[in-house]
Amino acid sequence: MSIRPIYLDCHATTPVDERVLAMMIPYFTQNFGNPSSIQHQYGWEAEAAVRKAREILADAINAAPEEIVFTSGATEANNLAIKGVAEAYCQKGQHIVTVVSEHNAVIDPCKYLEGLGFEVTMLPVQKDGLLDLNKLEKSLRSDTILVSVMAANNEIGVLQPLGEIGTICREREVYFHSDAAQAIGKISLDVQAMKIDLMSLTAHKIYGPKGIGALYVRRRNPRVQLSPQQHGGGHERGMRSGTLYTPQIVGFGKAVEIALQEQVTEGNRQLGLRQKLWEKISQMDGIHQNGHPTQRLTGNLNVSVEGVNGSALHLGLQRVMAVSSGSACSSRSTKPSHVLTALGNSENLAYASVRFGIGRFNTVEEINIVAENFVSVVNSLRKQSIQDKG
Ligand SMILES: *Cc1c(COP(=O)(O)O)cnc(C)c1O
Repeated sequence: MSIRPIYLDCHATTPVDERVLAMMIPYFTQNFGNPSSIQHQYGWEAEAAVRKAREILADAINAAPEEIVFTSGATEANNLAIKGVAEAYCQKGQHIVTVVSEHNAVIDPCKYLEGLGFEVTMLPVQKDGLLDLNKLEKSLRSDTILVSVMAANNEIGVLQPLGEIGTICREREVYFHSDAAQAIGKISLDVQAMKIDLMSLTAHKIYGPKGIGALYVRRRNPRVQLSPQQHGGGHERGMRSGTLYTPQIVGFGKAVEIALQEQVTEGNRQLGLRQKLWEKISQMDGIHQNGHPTQRLTGNLNVSVEGVNGSALHLGLQRVMAVSSGSACSSRSTKPSHVLTALGNSENLAYASVRFGIGRFNTVEEINIVAENFVSVVNSLRKQSIQDKG
């Protein structure tokens, strides 16, 4: 096999940690029971494994195990939260508030609801990517039923002030949903302290398997009603039918457990790598960071480069590093990132942007190689464009 580029796209996905995989394997073969089979040992074994994972997840966010609903990922969790609340509370009101920099898995369900007659307010973000809390307060109305603001942005890593947002929503008796796909295991999340009513999670951004996620749904103070979006056998307290995917759930639990154990040490290590990378590449002129400089995920660095063509830049980098321009989930489209343009970048500058997603398995040697190559690719593209003009 040829040498592959250095993987620095951990916001798109991450490899499964070997420790996670080892936990999962028996649940494909020996312990294959259906967790809903309550009359024999095969079912009990699977149910015990699912229960353990549910407890780990609940503990991670200061929730109760019954408040965790397993889904196929954060996309499904976001859909269930937003459409489920909209359908359950449409008699009370039909206004939803969210933010322009959200993931498409939040924006698109909101747009879908708009088509059904709901009204959606898309709040802008400030130049640093943070939500203006005054604007949030002003947007709330007597018919507002839901506010959806992500915990950590998947492109620019910015961390929204969840506690403040939760306080505003609770005072106004509006449910607060947060897409925490990028945040779980990387920052502290506490649904009580932050007054979060619904929260979307996924495993594959934290070295767990793809195809498994969860939605936290608050049961008391206040209780959240959800209209299920998938009907069937009544699994997950009726909120999400379908046989539970035991191996993935076990892997999800283990991935969260490891991420929490290593959160502080790993966060500091990644911060060191990010600072090193920025230090080296910012010696060039005409390069700026996107998103708040400190209120962000430690492993995220997003930069825009002046004076280069975006596609030439990415073409130049891809032999040495696997990075992306926008979000992986929308990067098949040719439009510039809606997050980067929301920060005030021109379309050209948004194309000429690079998202570095540093993760658990990246080393300082890799960062040195990436920094060096990045500088040389940018310099040669700039030289070339001067020659072309001359
Ligand atoms: C990756 C991601 C999603 C989608 O999660 P899946 O589990 O892949 O469906 C949603 N929101 C954010 C912020 C993400 O980073």
